[in-house]
Amino acid sequence: MTDLYRLLPEEMEQLMIDLGEPRYRADQILYALYYKFPKHISEIKQLPKIFREKLISEGFTIGSTTETLRVTSDDGDTTKLLLNLNDDTPIESVLMQYQSKKLFGHPRSTICVSTQVGCAMGCVFCATGQMGFERNMKAEEIVGQVIHFARILNDRGQHITNIVFMGMGEPLANYSETLRAIQLLTHPRGFGIGQRHITVSTIGLVSAIDKLAEENLQIGLAISLHAPESNLRKTLVPTASNDSVEELIDAGKRYFLKTGRRVTFEYALIEGINDSPEIAEKLAILLKDNGSHVNLIPLNPTAGDFGRPSRNNVIEFERILYNSGINCTVRVEKGTEISAACGQLRTDVLNKYNDKKNIIQEQ
Ligand code: SAH
Ligand code: SF4
Repeated sequence: MTDLYRLLPEEMEQLMIDLGEPRYRADQILYALYYKFPKHISEIKQLPKIFREKLISEGFTIGSTTETLRVTSDDGDTTKLLLNLNDDTPIESVLMQYQSKKLFGHPRSTICVSTQVGCAMGCVFCATGQMGFERNMKAEEIVGQVIHFARILNDRGQHITNIVFMGMGEPLANYSETLRAIQLLTHPRGFGIGQRHITVSTIGLVSAIDKLAEENLQIGLAISLHAPESNLRKTLVPTASNDSVEELIDAGKRYFLKTGRRVTFEYALIEGINDSPEIAEKLAILLKDNGSHVNLIPLNPTAGDFGRPSRNNVIEFERILYNSGINCTVRVEKGTEISAACGQLRTDVLNKYNDKKNIIQEQ
C-alpha cells in the first residue's frame, strides 16, 4: 500500500512512467491532492475512471488519518482534532487562528502537527513525554494532518498560512520522515506553502540541528531551552546532556550562520522551578547579544505536579529579559479549556475511555 500523499512530484512522475501513463497524469493527481483534498482515489475526477480503478487495484491509497474527535474553543479560534492513523493510533493536531493578524482579509491560520506517537525525551511537564514513545509517524501521516485542516478551512473559504511542528513528538528524532513532510509541504507542485511559514520545534538534538542547517531550507527553528543552566535543564528534560545549554546555544548560532534565520528559544515557565527573577537574570546574561528571540510559554499544567506561574512572575521575567535587550514574547494562550497542550487531549480522552471501561467492568 502506498499513500499518494507520500510521493514528491518527481516521484509521482516516475510512478506515472512506470505505470505506462503520460507524464501529465502526475500534475492531474498533484492538482487534485493539493487543491481539492479528496478523501479517496475514486474522488479524483480529473483522472479517467479506468485509471483510478487501476491505481486502487495496484494498492495505492490516499489519506492516512480519520477524524475521531473535534473540539473547538469558546472563542472559535482554536480547533483541536483527535485523528486516528490507519493502525487506529490516536494523535493530535491543532488549528490556531489569529483574527487580529489578518492578511488580505484572512486570519492567520497556524496548524500544529505531530511527528511521533508519544515521545522518548520524557520531559517531566509534557503530557506526550509522559506517554512514552510508541512510534515514528510517516511523512504522509504528518502531511495528512495538514490536508485534514486544509479541507476544513477550504470549506470556510480560508487557507493555512503557517505550519508549526510543535505537536506530539520530537521532529528531529524522526528526521527523514519530518524532512520528507517539509519537502512535500513546501514543494511548489506539492502543498506549496513558503518555507518561511514553517517552524520546527526541537528539544535540541544537536547533530540533527546541524544536519538540518545543511538542507538548504529557509524554515524557522525553535529550540526548547527551558533553563539557563544544564543542571536545572536536566531535571526538566531528563534525556538532556550535562552541558546541553551551552551546546544548544552554539547549535542555534550555527543554524543562524548557515541559514540566515534567527532561532527562537522556547522557555516553558513553570511555577517555582524556572520562573524566578534570579533565573531570568541568568538567562539574560546567557542570551545577551546573541540576537535570538525568546518565546516564554506559561506552563499549561498537564503532567506531574507542576503549576503555571502567576501573571506577575511572567511579566517580571519578560521585563528582565527585555531590559537586557533580549527580543522576547509571551505565547498567547490558546484553547486551554480544550486541552491544547501537546498530548493533553489524547491523554484526557484515553483516561476517560479507561474510566468508562472501569465503570463497565465494575457493573
Ligand atoms: N518535541 C518538540 C516539539 C513538541 S513540544 C519540543 O519539545 O520542542 C512543543 C513545545 O511545547 C515545546 O517547547 C514544549 O516544551 C512545550 N510544551 C510541552 N508541554 C507543555 C505544557 N504542558 N505547557 C507549556 N508548554 C509545553
Ligand atoms: Fe517530547 Fe517535546 Fe514533550 Fe519533551 S516537550 S517530551 S521533546 S514532545
